[in-house]
Amino acid sequence: MLQTTIAGSLPKPEWLAEPNKLWAAWKADGTALDAAKRDATLLWLKLQEDAGIDIVTDGEQSRQHFVHGFLERVEGIDFAHKVEMGIRNNRYKAMVPTVTGALRLNGRVHATEARLARAHTTRKLKFTLPGPMTIVDTIADTHYGDKLALATAFADLLNQEARALEADGVDVIQFDEPAFNVYMDEVATWGISALERAAEGLSCTTAVHICYGYGIQANIDWKGSLGAEWRQYEQTFPVLAASRIDQVSLECRNARVPLRLLQLLAGKDVLVGAIDVATDAVETPEQVAAVIEDAMEFVPPERLFPCTNCGMAPMARDVAAAKLVALGRGAALVRRRLRA
Ligand code: ZN
Repeated sequence: MLQTTIAGSLPKPEWLAEPNKLWAAWKADGTALDAAKRDATLLWLKLQEDAGIDIVTDGEQSRQHFVHGFLERVEGIDFAHKVEMGIRNNRYKAMVPTVTGALRLNGRVHATEARLARAHTTRKLKFTLPGPMTIVDTIADTHYGDKLALATAFADLLNQEARALEADGVDVIQFDEPAFNVYMDEVATWGISALERAAEGLSCTTAVHICYGYGIQANIDWKGSLGAEWRQYEQTFPVLAASRIDQVSLECRNARVPLRLLQLLAGKDVLVGAIDVATDAVETPEQVAAVIEDAMEFVPPERLFPCTNCGMAPMARDVAAAKLVALGRGAALVRRRLRA
């Protein structure tokens, strides 16, 4: 009951990449970089365990970007000539590679870090992959010429890697779909079916993470424009409730999401974001407990998994570590109260 987990990413230690920066360049290369990634993965596994996180991740220490980390192993993409593209409905601009040919996976993507993490923790292990709709929203295309065709091609590659991750001993495979909070009509018409295709045939737990983004300025400004109640989830949740995905990870702490919307996810596990990733202020266990208890009005405790709002990659390492501890203590507090 109330098993804790995190959305996925954690900050890179300063010897691996420049801290406090999203998509920072690596500080080493070759075998030294491989070793640094392994060390950082082990460090965060230990800190998650110490903090009482029940379902741990590799902290995404081996990838610079949550989408492009997957794309680096995909053939049919031109990385040499990146183009500027407005993404998430033009909320911000990013330099993105271009699909120029038929897509094909060039071997495994995340075998090294998944097997390393599996070998060093007995806790449940979650692994994150970008969802097909979010990939399509983060890449230019001159080959497929159609979003659904492109999403379907990516879904097949994701499925190939997801099945291999399951064979590596991963317990939960989560697809990150921030685009699900932006293109609500397209979620229903093709986003969910592409997501289900990516998860097809998996017998491990499957999850989707939908959020309002990292705590970067463009996202903070966007949230400020969404009004007193954020109702994006209201359109997406009924479609997700009818899908074959087991778990939904969402943002609750310091969010203007009306919690009654969680009722629309009846029958699903709900990963309730109780840690704000947009502020360095570390939550108290009581504040974490308050979010969990508010959400428990709409989600039974056996289906509720206390979590972070989003990835913590751009945060300071000590802040992220302290927030993990707060998450673990807050969940423990609620479990104690439920037993009392
Ligand atoms: Zn997120």
